[in-house]
Amino acid sequence: MDSWKLDAEHMVREQIMTRGVTWQPVLEAMASVPRHLFLEKPLDRSAWIDSPLPIGDDQTISQPYMVARMTELLAPEPGEAVLEIGTGSGYQTAVLAAIGARVTSMERIRSLADRAREKLAELGYSATVLWHDGREKPEELGVFSGVLVTAAVDELADWWSEVLLPGGRLVAPLRVASGSERLFRRIKEAEGVFVDSWHEYCRFVPLLKGRTDGRP
Ligand code: SAH
Repeated sequence: MDSWKLDAEHMVREQIMTRGVTWQPVLEAMASVPRHLFLEKPLDRSAWIDSPLPIGDDQTISQPYMVARMTELLAPEPGEAVLEIGTGSGYQTAVLAAIGARVTSMERIRSLADRAREKLAELGYSATVLWHDGREKPEELGVFSGVLVTAAVDELADWWSEVLLPGGRLVAPLRVASGSERLFRRIKEAEGVFVDSWHEYCRFVPLLKGRTDGRP
């Protein structure tokens, strides 16, 4: 067994299960995805710690627990189409792909989008990474069973709810009063019928406007 697999199993047990995540598909996926390979070399060995980490361009790979909890709230079934806004390192994308979701992911920083696309392909995860501002709807995008936003927002873009199929879920870190952020989930029961709920407090980098070649 590769030595990182022990680190991955330890991370799942100590950081994720202990905090109450019980959804088996995400626990298995996070034990199987090589998180250390989504970081830049000098940071490889700290990949498994209980923290977000820098990935370049002033952005971060999310804390493992946060990836697990958001994925649990989204609960994608194998074969379902999922849209991720904020590809970053591609780690969350890989976790969704490992569960069997068909992922389309958008990233506004070109260098990150390119790196994530290459990494996912190299590791055999099938996902589509677009260099795109996730606040704007691209033409001919299709519909999704899940939309996962991994950058903090003041409000949801209308089109994120519009592309959801009936039964679809949207999960996002929303800013609340006092400047903190909280995980928000919307379930689209039918056209125009939503069931909204609030979950854990969290901390994400902000969703920014426009695409860029390099630093934000
Ligand atoms: N899911 C990532 C963590 C993402 S951090 C991971 O697992 O590594 C949030 C990412 O959202 C950053 O890479 C940031 O550049 C990106 N982002 C910010 N605003 C955006 C926007 N408007 N459209 C697309 N991506 C955006």
